[in-house]
Amino acid sequence: MLEKNSRVRIAMQKSGRLSDDSKKLLTRCGIKINLQQKGLIAFAENMPIDIMYVRDDDIPELVIQGVVDLGIVGKNVLKENFLNRKEKLKKNLYNILCDLDFGTCRLSLSIPLNVKYCNIQYFQNTRIATSYPNLLKNFLDKKKIQFKLCSLNGSVEVAPRLNLADAICDLVSTGATLKENGLYEVETVYISSACLISRLGKMSIFKENIINKLITRIQGVIKARESKYIMLHAPISKLDKVVSLLRGAENPTILKLANDKTKVAMHMVSSETLFWETMEKLKNLGASSILVLPIEKMME
Ligand code: ATP
Ligand code: ZN
Repeated sequence: MLEKNSRVRIAMQKSGRLSDDSKKLLTRCGIKINLQQKGLIAFAENMPIDIMYVRDDDIPELVIQGVVDLGIVGKNVLKENFLNRKEKLKKNLYNILCDLDFGTCRLSLSIPLNVKYCNIQYFQNTRIATSYPNLLKNFLDKKKIQFKLCSLNGSVEVAPRLNLADAICDLVSTGATLKENGLYEVETVYISSACLISRLGKMSIFKENIINKLITRIQGVIKARESKYIMLHAPISKLDKVVSLLRGAENPTILKLANDKTKVAMHMVSSETLFWETMEKLKNLGASSILVLPIEKMME
């Protein structure tokens, strides 16, 4: 029998850079969420899991306060929340259960393209626009740089053009937005990606089991996404050389071919994809029928 409140509640970003990847991850884990549900909470149909759609900045606090059991959030948001706390409230806030393979970005300091940059001293007494005042202060304090904070919640990249700031400290992934706004990166303040966190405190065995199952599935999904299934026909005389080109592949399965005694078929799971260059080298060694296939699911 299900105990009261035994559904696991997960907070994730409602709309933004993490929302699609977060939803896709849970779908890949076999959780059937009715994606049409527009409200604050959606219910999984096939597992005792509820999803709470919120602003990403609210996720750390929802987990810390125990409103939800799990949260999918960027480490940048976690660290900003952590640094914003009073010293005595800083420890044992949540557990990081696993790193996720999306939301990769960096918090960087950027300045106008027409300004030359020599070193960090450039920032002495400058005005810096950011939505991450604590991460920025933490970084510049360590370097003994004083600055004037221009705190903005969005569109930070336009601040230098409006003469609100001399520099910005903002999240970057490709750098395209910076370029469009006539800025370039000069210092990396923090490197981030998404992670799964859980609240502290005792959970029922039932919930613990669901969470453990979810972690195993998430790790399986990530592993599968990083891995490829490789099949090829290799000349028996060049087997060692072929294997040495396939770094990341463990213990290939070797099978006889029906009508060819000079070659064997090799099947293997590789933790790396096969680049065109490696495929060309394999071909030059006499390998043929080289196939690289995506893996849908994986459990070790
Ligand atoms: P919300 O309305 O939920 O507060 P937001 O505007 O603060 O949304 P997004 O821009 O959607 O947030 O970014 C959410 C998270 O995605 C960031 O905190 C960060 O962890 C991650 N992220 C990955 N790449 C980038 C990027 N290039 N720029 C901004 N955030 C990124
Ligand atoms: Zn936000």
